[in-house]
Amino acid sequence: MTNRISHWIDGKSWAGVAERTGEVFDPATGEVRALVDFAGDGQVAEAVNAAAAAFPGWRDTSLAARTKIMFAFRELLVARKEELAAIVTSEHGKVLSDAAGEVQRAIENVEYACGAPQLLKGGYSENASRGVDVYSLAQPLGVVGVISPFNFPAMVPLWFVPNAIACGNTVVLKPSEKDPSAANFIAELFAEAGLPSGVLNVLHGDKVAVDGLLKHPEVKAISFVGSTPIARYVYETGTAAGKRVQALGGAKNHMVVLPDADLDLAADAAVSAGFGSAGERCMAVSVVVAVEPVGDELVSKITERMGRLRVGDGRRPDSEMGPLVTAAHRERVASYLDAGVEAGARLVVDGREAGVDGDSGGFWLGPTLFDQVEPGMSIYTDEIFGPVLCVARAHSYDAALALINANPYGNGTAIFTNDGGASRRFQNEVEVGMVGVNVPIPVPVGYYSFGGWKNSLFGDSHAYGPEGFHFFTRTKVVTSRWLDPSHGGVNLGFPRNV
Ligand code: NAD
Repeated sequence: MTNRISHWIDGKSWAGVAERTGEVFDPATGEVRALVDFAGDGQVAEAVNAAAAAFPGWRDTSLAARTKIMFAFRELLVARKEELAAIVTSEHGKVLSDAAGEVQRAIENVEYACGAPQLLKGGYSENASRGVDVYSLAQPLGVVGVISPFNFPAMVPLWFVPNAIACGNTVVLKPSEKDPSAANFIAELFAEAGLPSGVLNVLHGDKVAVDGLLKHPEVKAISFVGSTPIARYVYETGTAAGKRVQALGGAKNHMVVLPDADLDLAADAAVSAGFGSAGERCMAVSVVVAVEPVGDELVSKITERMGRLRVGDGRRPDSEMGPLVTAAHRERVASYLDAGVEAGARLVVDGREAGVDGDSGGFWLGPTLFDQVEPGMSIYTDEIFGPVLCVARAHSYDAALALINANPYGNGTAIFTNDGGASRRFQNEVEVGMVGVNVPIPVPVGYYSFGGWKNSLFGDSHAYGPEGFHFFTRTKVVTSRWLDPSHGGVNLGFPRNV
């Protein structure tokens, strides 16, 4: 019998019968491992109602009690991190060590949320006017929706859920329908940690569930991560309905290699960041910009390293790169190999010819390298989101910078150089939200915030860290005077601070 994955509403698994379901694959074998229930409007209402009912009690739960639950959740997550990583690998396909890295980065965000009492402190000004005190409060918004993509089924939900909850909100999480089990595992662990029923709900499904959250009046805010067209749609629809929205979109990340760089370090970085997680990372390096004359040498060093990569079932300890998430995605990515050749790029390594240590039914595509890539080609303009690395040549630092700044995406970028002045200029001039200096995947630590510029983020708040706390609270400023014998009677003038 096929396993069933269902919603988690009001502290328990949903017991109804779904009208629609989706198939969840094991990408390394191609087999259907489960069916996931898809929510209709009825289940959206159930989940939002559960969250709305839990809100008043949770909002007024003491900071001490909220924090205790967050610490308990953190302990459970640390104790069971390998189980969560195995769930990620079984539905996403990324290799176990990579899934473990994802869970570890997720734990950083839980640890940040444990600091809520400190982070939610407001300001207090005594005697702003004579006998008058002014202070600010950071209050939760209410029910918030979190909509996440397939590529980080544990980490991206945990970018938002702990911070939202720690701030006193209640949450409806709508994970990707492609790898939904990590979200349920997280919700069950939160319940075990003592989180009251209804504070975190998991709603599975597709566009119907997302649209349901976008139009429900009880949902006050949406944190979305996914592709740019959907991010734009979620931002426009959600804000038109009066909600606070942060919508993180897709990427095309460039890594500039200056002529003075350590080319072995740069080649290692390009291969690691280009092919880790089979290129299914929004911070993957997809374009290496070689500033001449280093192009030929760099391409040869990258090619040599690619030849040693082991592609195989993510559960095997020696696999370095797993399959793609679905057969449809594999076909889409593979179609770019022909498109690149037709457009005139040089196919240096063809991923279709790679040896694979895994079941023949898996969604495999080996690492691919294109050289001589030009801006007009679809392999350059489109986010491929697979193991396809492009090398573009530039004749100067200025040309490399101009290429990046002309790109509609602005998620992450990196520069490889031994010249501190050049790197300082780059961090100042590049129009990208996250910059690495000799670091290829500059995902900020949990106490900074994550977010791109331009078409990589809609809204003005980045994810997690201080901007996460800002997003999940609204401030209120109180001006207070306790009567004393000196009060001065009626005064129709605008209040002046004296
Ligand atoms: P996606 O946009 O297809 O799906 C994201 C979420 O939106 C899922 O929960 C999905 O069910 C829902 N969705 C899909 N189609 C929808 C529609 N028509 N209407 C409403 N909701 C819809 O993205 P994906 O394929 O799951 O994830 C990969 C994408 O996410 C890539 O573009 C990647 O760059 C991006 N991503 C960005 C970041 C970031 O921080 N900027 C992080 C991770 C992933």
